[in-house]
Amino acid sequence: MNIVVLVKQVPDSGLARQLDDQLRVDRNGANNVMGELDEYAVEAALQLKEAHGGEVTVLTLGPSQATETVRKTLAMGADKALHIEDDAVGGSDALATSKILAAALGRLEWDLVIAGAESTDSGMGIMPQMLAARTGVPALTGARKIDTDGTAITVEHQRANGYDVLTASLPAIVSVWDTINTPRYPSLKGIMAAKRKPVETLALSDLGVDAAEVGPSGANNEVLSAAERPPRTAGQIVTDEGQGGTALAEFLAAEKFI
Ligand SMILES: Cc1cc2nc3c(=O)[nH]c(=O)nc-3n(C[C@H](O)[C@H](O)[C@H](O)COP(=O)(O)OP(=O)(O)OC[C@H]3O[C@@H](n4cnc5c(N)ncnc54)[C@H](O)[C@@H]3O)c2cc1C
Repeated sequence: MNIVVLVKQVPDSGLARQLDDQLRVDRNGANNVMGELDEYAVEAALQLKEAHGGEVTVLTLGPSQATETVRKTLAMGADKALHIEDDAVGGSDALATSKILAAALGRLEWDLVIAGAESTDSGMGIMPQMLAARTGVPALTGARKIDTDGTAITVEHQRANGYDVLTASLPAIVSVWDTINTPRYPSLKGIMAAKRKPVETLALSDLGVDAAEVGPSGANNEVLSAAERPPRTAGQIVTDEGQGGTALAEFLAAEKFI
């Protein structure tokens, strides 16, 4: 079974993140890492490959530094990668991003695509569904478990208070939450092997995508302004002089917590 994993490099969500002067995510000044949920997507693909055979190909769209993220997936055990890199992509919206990724998927042989349920920068949670619409295959989203016999796929779609069981025939696109597995760390042997694994880099013209249809000129939305989150205000200290419980309850009631 051939699997493509979608991996996006994002600014580390554990650190302060900034917008640049064009109100775009500042990727140059950031500590960039693999999208946190994408690590679980890679692990899910590797486990399916170990069970069923086939190849795992990583697909990413992003600037040149995304190569670091690609190398990490290869060190984890993916077989090869396709990196779409083109200056015209900066400022693309989700629709344009899906157009490019769908064109890239058209160049690969796959039975299954696995993505994170949402990226940890833009966090729209829409890319797997857009790609399913563009490629004409079913989307089984938000999985916490995947089973396949090589011709059909069944996932447990995570809900707040339980799960739904979804099933479809392959090919299909699945997105995963962090409840699905525990991603492996790359071993030293894996890191060395990754250096010899093939990484193909293509530009928009190689995919037949017109640069005018992506980037700011092709975007359906525009960020007009942004404001920093206001600093946290100091909390209110309740000193207990015998009436602490009452004061606490009054505070919680006033704030409508109770
Ligand atoms: C270089 C670059 C510059 C961009 N600049 C802007 C900008 O200035 N303004 C703007 O509004 N948007 C921009 N975008 C698009 C935006 O960052 C998102 O990629 C896009 O809107 C998809 O939304 P999302 O990340 O929230 O996807 P989600 O649907 O939340 O992502 C779900 C999953 O889809 C996969 N995925 C998403 N994006 C990619 C990717 N690029 N490559 C591989 N897999 C992916 C991952 O598995 C991810 O976990 C840019 C994108 C790129 C690649």
